[in-house]
Amino acid sequence: MSRERCKKEVRNRDYVMNRYTQCSRYAVKDGYCKQHHPDAVKKRKEEKDARFHKQQENAPWKLKQKIAELQAENKKLRDALEDVIEAWSIEGATRIAQKALKKEGE
Ligand SMILES: [Zn+2]
Repeated sequence: MSRERCKKEVRNRDYVMNRYTQCSRYAVKDGYCKQHHPDAVKKRKEEKDARFHKQQENAPWKLKQKIAELQAENKKLRDALEDVIEAWSIEGATRIAQKALKKEGE
């Protein structure tokens, strides 16, 4: 395999601003070095985006919104639970009353 240089043009910080030179690393795939291969660039961008989104997810205003959502959800569950308890209580009370009445009739 030839020691082909990476074809990516990079900003050279040692020289004048905005001066671009060819990347100094050797090409390993499709004429690009490991760092500059489009797949690697894409992967890095995706990772950066994912980190950004995660950060956004944990932003204070986002957490506040999440708390509000959870509180609303909690209230819904409590209401549902109260309904269940009520239904269960009536049913249970009815069963107990029926049992008692049956005993009385024996
Ligand atoms: Zn390169």
